[in-house]
Amino acid sequence: MQDPQFFESSLPEPRSASQDSAQEKPVSPPADAGASVEEKKPDLSDLWKGLLVAICNRMQPEQFATWFGRANLVGFTDTELDIAVLNEFTQDWILKYHRSAIEGAILAVLGTKRTLVISVDSELSTATIPNEVLSAVPQVVPNPAPATRASQTQPPAPTSSQSPQPAGGSLLWNSDIELNPGNTFENFVVGPCNRFGHASAMGAAEQPGRSYNPFFIHGSVGVGKTHLLQGICHMILQKTPQSRILYLSCETFINHFISALQDGDTTRFRNKYRNVDVLVVDDIHLLANKERTQEEFFHTFNTLHTAGKQIVLSSDSPPKDIPTLQERLISRFKWGMVAELERPCFETRMAIVKRKSISRGNEFPHSVAEYIASNIESNVRELEGAVTRLLAYSSMSNRPIDHAMAHEALSSILKTTRGQPTLGDVVQAVTQHYHLKPSDLQSTKRTRAIAFPRHVAMYLARIVTGNSFEAIGAHFGGRDHSTVVYAVNKLKKLLQTQPERCEEVGRLYTELTGRQLES
Ligand code: ADP
Ligand code: MG
Repeated sequence: MQDPQFFESSLPEPRSASQDSAQEKPVSPPADAGASVEEKKPDLSDLWKGLLVAICNRMQPEQFATWFGRANLVGFTDTELDIAVLNEFTQDWILKYHRSAIEGAILAVLGTKRTLVISVDSELSTATIPNEVLSAVPQVVPNPAPATRASQTQPPAPTSSQSPQPAGGSLLWNSDIELNPGNTFENFVVGPCNRFGHASAMGAAEQPGRSYNPFFIHGSVGVGKTHLLQGICHMILQKTPQSRILYLSCETFINHFISALQDGDTTRFRNKYRNVDVLVVDDIHLLANKERTQEEFFHTFNTLHTAGKQIVLSSDSPPKDIPTLQERLISRFKWGMVAELERPCFETRMAIVKRKSISRGNEFPHSVAEYIASNIESNVRELEGAVTRLLAYSSMSNRPIDHAMAHEALSSILKTTRGQPTLGDVVQAVTQHYHLKPSDLQSTKRTRAIAFPRHVAMYLARIVTGNSFEAIGAHFGGRDHSTVVYAVNKLKKLLQTQPERCEEVGRLYTELTGRQLES
């Protein structure tokens, strides 16, 4: 059994998932925010409501109701934010297990950090969670019934009678994130592009450690990989709350391994990763070019797989296309189920916009959904962003949503880019246009279908981002600067001599900068 103290001392604090929730509207600080709380007693209730919604989005609803149902915001300055709770027990618990959720919420709502203070006030007026918060986060159960603790490796069960426990299980608390309650299979809109991925993810969750092991899902940015990974976790925990699920970003796995190497303590590291029922690693393609970590992951994989434990992985490309991934890992990743999430087709995008607007209580007219779905083609996260923006626009202007408003509110984000494009913008535009993965551009593959777009990407990166040849080479799979010089010259020549062969380069340039490319 794992010792909680061990986890605490050996791991950085779990971070919250970055969730761009609709309800996380920035709240203006009270006018006298900088003044001493005791002197002025500003009205903090609006800020508190905004924070509650954002906190709730970062944890399971039952936990939220338990720990924040009887808390209140009592102080707020330029540097500090003070939340009062009824007793020391709650104070300790929140500081130990929910600090990162609150800090993430503060950042989301205020846009800047504050030092978190949790103070105890036994005479605190115990207002229940405001109705606005309950309606913004419908999953919250105000008075959850006590239940037994999910897992021995979770934080220890409180003994206080005023500390009811969540009904379902939760992730191992040294995981990277707390599950987003909305990322369930039911909330995933299914269409031809993702039907297989959705069904096979459910298959993996129904019988963990059996036929779909490992479960490997791949697809480009924003197509729902993380959503399905979390859907698997929710389902497993619903069926078997005591399951020990460790959920990590690949980056965390790599960082922990590097620290373990530096401290010369790889045994501890190994035990930590191998003593779980389900290991979920998001964005496993980041193992590219990390040979020592690949080696370690290989052993972790073998130990878990041999013991019949479920492994769940996501990646931006199929196993064979992850640059420099060892053959033996490629073959292991293909042992179970490899499923692809394709970019959503028009009908699925329409259904997603409709579903998101309905769930926010304001179903968009057909023409508006159509406008959004036809202008945002590849990324569900951007579709969500457009829905949020339009809802905010409508509520601020106090007008019903129609096609004209959609155009007004969204045309700027749909058609132009703001500020100087980044290398990431170039990669996104080029991969989207040529239907490639970012890792294709980094890879060593030289087929024309990849080499030409790679040259285009390097050329655009040079002329629109202002990065040096070295920096661009490094970004595209650690290439030498001379490769970038070659690509840029080649494209220049092609544009001058055979412009018809690379019309799309001009279009990509305009997409990135809003200007015409002059040859
Ligand atoms: P990825 O991990 O592939 O980059 P995410 O899983 O983070 O993408 O998805 C981005 C956002 O879009 C999330 O808020 C997710 O819930 C939502 N999303 C993606 N696909 C769907 C879908 N098919 N139905 C509903 N929401 C979706
Ligand atoms: Mg993701």
